[in-house]
Amino acid sequence: MPEDKPEKGVDSRTLLKRLRDILAEQGEGQERLDKITYIIACSMDADVCSIYLRRDEKTLELCATEGLNPESVHQTRLRVGQGLVGRIAEQARPVQAMDAPAAKGFRYMPETGEEVFSSFLGVPIQRLGEVLGVLVVQSKDPRQFTEDEIYGLEVVAMVIAEMAELGAFTAENQQAMSMPHQRPFFAKGLVGQEGVAVGHVVLHEPNIVISNPVADDPEVEKRRLSQAFQTLQTEIDRMLKADRIAVKGEHREVLEAYRMFAHDKGWRQRMEVSIDRGLAAEVAVEKEQSNTRTRMERVTDPYLRERLHDLDDLSNRLLRILTGRDGNGADLPEDAILVARNIGPAELLDYGRKLKGVVLEEGSVGSHAAIVARALAIPLVIQAARITREALNGDEILVDGDAGLAHLRPDETVKSAFMEKVAMREEAQEEYAALRDLPAISTDGQRIRLEMNAGLMADLPSLHSSGAEGVGLYRTELQFLLRSSVPRRREQSDLYARVLDAAGDKPVTFRTLDIGSDKVLPYMKRQDEPNPALGWRAIRLGLDRPGLMRMQFQTLIRASKGRPLRIMFPMVAQFDEFRDARQMLLDELAAERQKRHAVPRDVKIGAMLETPSLAFAPDQFFEMADFISIGGNDLKQFFFAADRENERVRRRYDTLNVSYLNFIEQIAQKCDQIGTPVSFCGEDAGRSVDALAFAAMGLRTLSMRPASIGPIKRLIRYVDLGKTKAVIDAARASGDQSVRPALEAWLTSIGAPYF
Ligand code: PEP
Ligand code: MG
Repeated sequence: MPEDKPEKGVDSRTLLKRLRDILAEQGEGQERLDKITYIIACSMDADVCSIYLRRDEKTLELCATEGLNPESVHQTRLRVGQGLVGRIAEQARPVQAMDAPAAKGFRYMPETGEEVFSSFLGVPIQRLGEVLGVLVVQSKDPRQFTEDEIYGLEVVAMVIAEMAELGAFTAENQQAMSMPHQRPFFAKGLVGQEGVAVGHVVLHEPNIVISNPVADDPEVEKRRLSQAFQTLQTEIDRMLKADRIAVKGEHREVLEAYRMFAHDKGWRQRMEVSIDRGLAAEVAVEKEQSNTRTRMERVTDPYLRERLHDLDDLSNRLLRILTGRDGNGADLPEDAILVARNIGPAELLDYGRKLKGVVLEEGSVGSHAAIVARALAIPLVIQAARITREALNGDEILVDGDAGLAHLRPDETVKSAFMEKVAMREEAQEEYAALRDLPAISTDGQRIRLEMNAGLMADLPSLHSSGAEGVGLYRTELQFLLRSSVPRRREQSDLYARVLDAAGDKPVTFRTLDIGSDKVLPYMKRQDEPNPALGWRAIRLGLDRPGLMRMQFQTLIRASKGRPLRIMFPMVAQFDEFRDARQMLLDELAAERQKRHAVPRDVKIGAMLETPSLAFAPDQFFEMADFISIGGNDLKQFFFAADRENERVRRRYDTLNVSYLNFIEQIAQKCDQIGTPVSFCGEDAGRSVDALAFAAMGLRTLSMRPASIGPIKRLIRYVDLGKTKAVIDAARASGDQSVRPALEAWLTSIGAPYF
């Protein structure tokens, strides 16, 4: 131990400066930890000071102590949640006791000799809500630690956390003292978009490593903080004033919350108190951010969680201002894999095809970011718990979008198994590429048209690379959803024209705006509806507010520049709705003609069949419609009365359930009888066995995500559709609930490539 014994009861600033000196000195990790426990014990006038660090996810290890039996260092281990120390790590909150051995949950560890110490105070060593260890002081005399002392120890723990992050405590063969974020980490999330990727982490929010966690001059640090707050407030006010978002809506709500926090005196004062205690401004912000994140883990109310997320975002902004760093790394590595808590669609589009993969801590299958990832054909894993806390910029990461998994800092075994998977996939891709220009014809000569779904310019390169024969569903609302204001007439028609240009002579079916339900435009007043999926949406909204729909007709007609045009209406539930919308379109065509604008040389007007009622519409509807497209996502939700966004009920009903399949067959027969072309464009058309069953039921056109075209074409070319139908019929006759088991068993028996 050092010769010059530090004085007792020093203020935390002096203590922090001593810690900083230790960080600056040459030395082994163990030596540093020993010195730290020694000076903390002295300056807090305590008999014991100990540091426990995380050995792994579940275990803490005593790594240094002043006052307990030195033999127990690296021997004493306890589980997170066990004893007072384990409880601190689990709850990320300080614990104090005047008579520790009598305290609830106390666990006696005889090898440490701690039974003689009655008073106990422990605080988490945490960084950004992640507990790296526990710092404890103990004394023989019963002693009540003051609020001030607790706060002081928390501040000290913050600096120890920053030191750990900088790798100040590493030592050979000491797992608990290895630098955090060096071990392999595995996240099991959900599939957002299929595909695999190998690359390096790029954090959407910067992970800032602070090299000097201790303030030299608190006044200077407070001034820096104050300036950062001012910049932050100006930024937010500017965003609020920008007229493009000066409408009521979700964005504004978030910005208002930002503004409230940015002006919140309590929040800022707490940071100033930490600075007075000796922390640098950045670490003071991080200390508050840690508290926010700890609270976030506990809060279940979705509204409060959102607000805590806002506060977390705001802390990130403050940190960026303080460190003068911009969020999105301008120079991304070649193999960038974006890791984020969540990301907006526009931000994801900004990164664009430069990304090899995306891993999100939150996100949902139907989210707009997922739609963009799909359009860009980037593998996406969502709901990957803790990934933003574990990942550091530049870490190696493997993304398995097929299984919804992410391996961070993988070890060699995991990596080699993964690389095998990548190689197999590449082989399959080569096979699909070889089929690209061949038709999908079954061995008994039935021809199926395979088209793709799209909605963004980013989708269109896939039209050629996938071999799609057209765009069976162009979701026009995506352009509206990604924006903070209604796209101008000109922008709309430019986009549609570019889509038609890119498609060349392949047909594109534009669907008019399908908004409402889960597709809420940020700049439109949100309707308070008890059941939005059954509410005022799509064609209902279009007919009641014809201005927007008319504008869309006009922009589509103008974009066609005389080329043929295919337009369909979403969510038609009865004949009249189709007839009225169609008439509006015909009127608009007439008006354009009168203005002597070029009009399409051929217009086909169709309807999506997404409600069971439309399948039973009068024959006149089927005669009037130029084509029908089955929107299976909605149709299935209404057929089974099971919310498509609710994972719990969604998976309960199989698409190949006999009732549903019979229904699809009936629609195909009806259309065939009247001569109305019919296709299927829901997500299920992109699943190979489902697509095969639809084809066997008589559907001749399927529209799907581009990545599915290759595998589905390969399957169709492998099978006899007549025999497929016979297998389905036998399963139906035998009373099976779903034809899937029988169909899959048969496909396996003939060695068919299905997924
Ligand atoms: C559908 O419902 O199947 C469909 C294609 O429309 P969306 O998924 O856009 O609602
Ligand atoms: Mg739909």
